[in-house]
Amino acid sequence: MTQTLLLLPGDGIGPEVIEQTVRVAEKIAPDLALDYGLVGGASYDEHGTPLTDETLARAKAVDAVLMGSVGGPKWDSVARHHRPEAGLLNLRKGMDVYANLRPALCFSALADASALKRHLVEGLDILIVRELVGGVYFGQPKGIETLADGTRRGFDNAEYTTPEIHRITRVAFDIAKGRGNSDRRWGGVCSVEKSNVMDSGQLWKEEVQALYDAELKDMGVPLHHMLADACAMQLVREPKGFDVILADNLFGDMLSDEASMLTGSIGMLPSASLSDAGKPGLYEPVHGSAPDIAGQGKANPCAAILSLEMALRWNLGRSDAADAITQAVSNALDKGARTPDLGGEMSTSQMGDAILAEL
Ligand code: NAD
Repeated sequence: MTQTLLLLPGDGIGPEVIEQTVRVAEKIAPDLALDYGLVGGASYDEHGTPLTDETLARAKAVDAVLMGSVGGPKWDSVARHHRPEAGLLNLRKGMDVYANLRPALCFSALADASALKRHLVEGLDILIVRELVGGVYFGQPKGIETLADGTRRGFDNAEYTTPEIHRITRVAFDIAKGRGNSDRRWGGVCSVEKSNVMDSGQLWKEEVQALYDAELKDMGVPLHHMLADACAMQLVREPKGFDVILADNLFGDMLSDEASMLTGSIGMLPSASLSDAGKPGLYEPVHGSAPDIAGQGKANPCAAILSLEMALRWNLGRSDAADAITQAVSNALDKGARTPDLGGEMSTSQMGDAILAEL
């Protein structure tokens, strides 16, 4: 049966990096059907909304969705619910992609671009599994109110339920089992929270442990618990001690940004957001639309190409093709291929050429 990948290039450098990703897809998986749609400012300009019902319906019906990036100064004055970023949030929520996977992978050719010393990051390969559609970003009530004395009060509600915690925990364990890095200091799954000060954090820890004891223990994947602040510290002290870090929406957001800086440029970072097995995932580079370099051919396409790699691995069941992409990117970097963000002079399409030549 034909598999379909829906491409949503978006705004700014999105279309530029997706163009190179399409070249890679056509070479590595020629039988894959490629479909196109609009999201973000591009959709707003055409349809008056950053995500149409029709595009969302298509996203839910295909095998996987690969997005470029959304946003830009052109839409700064548009009402918040019509901004490009609202389209992305609605896409994530509408596809119910609750498990955000952000690998921090340090290609050895780029180890010197890291904020840390080479020996701490060379060969780094860790994965942050972040809960994406719950927690304090979505909890109700939330708001800003004016008090009787004229001062104001802002509030958000951090909340999690047993099913929300269990489903993301299962994802983390399934992935950790496939990785087989139990021998690392915090190998297997390291679940992080603030159980010392937050009730929702205490529930998180208890429910992860309860599910592990009841169902996951026999997988042979170790479980560790760590406070989120301690994890932030250990990530810069001994990052290679980790394997899979399991975190809620808020802590996962921060820790994945921290981990991303261990690996060099933001132009190298892919992500996957998964729903239940059998449903399409949303794959996207971590970076935004980079208005400062858009249209200049300077964008690094690696993050988008490595996002395709994740789609092939996690949704399309083509791990051989995925491995080939990772190897091609690594080989191209070893041979000196560099866009300006990596200290080189290659254009976006020249970087695409260099990767294609290794496939
Ligand atoms: P950004 O990620 O777009 O850019 C930050 C810096 O990194 C810029 O200097 C940019 O030139 C550089 N950069 C980013 N991607 C690069 C690449 N592939 N190659 C080389 N350099 C790259 O973040 P920002 O400037 O804070 O945001 C710009 C717009 O993007 C905003 O409208 C923001 O809301 C949006 N945004 C979208 C997403 C997304 O679509 N998922 C994520 C973050 C920001």
